[in-house]
Amino acid sequence: MRRKCLSHYITTLKERRSFTLKPNLIAVFLAVALLCAPVLPGGPITHAGAAQPSMSAVDVLIDVGHGGIDGGTSYGDLLEKDINLAVGKKLYDRLRQTGLCIALNRTHDYAPSDDNDWLKSRSRHLRDLAQRKLLIDVLQPKLTVSLHTNWSKHKAARGPGFLYQSAMPSYIAAHLLANRLNGLYGTNTAPYVGKTFYLLKRTNSPTVIVEMGYISNGSDRNMLTSPEGQKQITEAIASAILDYLIVYDF
Ligand SMILES: [Zn+2]
Repeated sequence: MRRKCLSHYITTLKERRSFTLKPNLIAVFLAVALLCAPVLPGGPITHAGAAQPSMSAVDVLIDVGHGGIDGGTSYGDLLEKDINLAVGKKLYDRLRQTGLCIALNRTHDYAPSDDNDWLKSRSRHLRDLAQRKLLIDVLQPKLTVSLHTNWSKHKAARGPGFLYQSAMPSYIAAHLLANRLNGLYGTNTAPYVGKTFYLLKRTNSPTVIVEMGYISNGSDRNMLTSPEGQKQITEAIASAILDYLIVYDF
C-alpha cells in the first residue's frame, strides 16, 4: 500500500502563499515526514559519500528555478522563470499520475527569497538559495531536480545541460537525465560535477541541476516555449526520474 503523500499538502499551502519554512517549523515537518515514512521490505541502498537517497515520504522535489523579482536569463520578453515554471507544473502533474509523492517549490511567480526572513543576509540571491536548500533539507526527497534554462552569446549553442554532486546517486540521476534529454534534442551533452553550485554543495540529499535548453537558440527556444515542446521535455525528464527511482527503489 502506498504511504500517505505530503506533496498535496505542500502544494496547497504554497498556493496560499503561506508555506513559510522557518527553522522552528522544521521539527514539525520532520515529525510528519516520519509518520508518513514507508515500511520498507528491505534496507535502503547505500553508497559511500554524501548525498544519499533518503527514506523520505517525498519521492521527488521539483525545484523551479528563479521566480518573482528574479527572472533568470531572458530573450526579449521571454523570461527563464516562466519557462521553468511551465515545465515544472507539467512535470508535477505528469509524475503525480504515477502515484509518486511529488513536491513543487513554487506554483506561481514569486521568489522563494520572499519567504526567507530567517537568514540575516543582504543578498537576496543567497536568501533565495538558502530557502530552496531548507526545503530540501526538511523534506529529504529521494531526488531533487532543479529546473533551469540556459543562455549563451553563441546562438548556435544548444541542447540540455546537467550538473551533479560529488556523490553516486546524483551522478547517476544526471546521466539518466542526459540519456533522455540528449535523445530528445539529438545532442551529446555530458553531465559535469557542479562543485561550486550552492544547492549541489550545501544539500545532503541527491540533487541535480538541469538546464532544459538554450533560450538563446531558435530551435531550443521553440522547444522550450511551445506546448508540444514543453510536453516532450516534461516526458523526457519524467522518464529519467522514473529510471532513477527504479535504480534507487525503496
Ligand atoms: Zn537559471
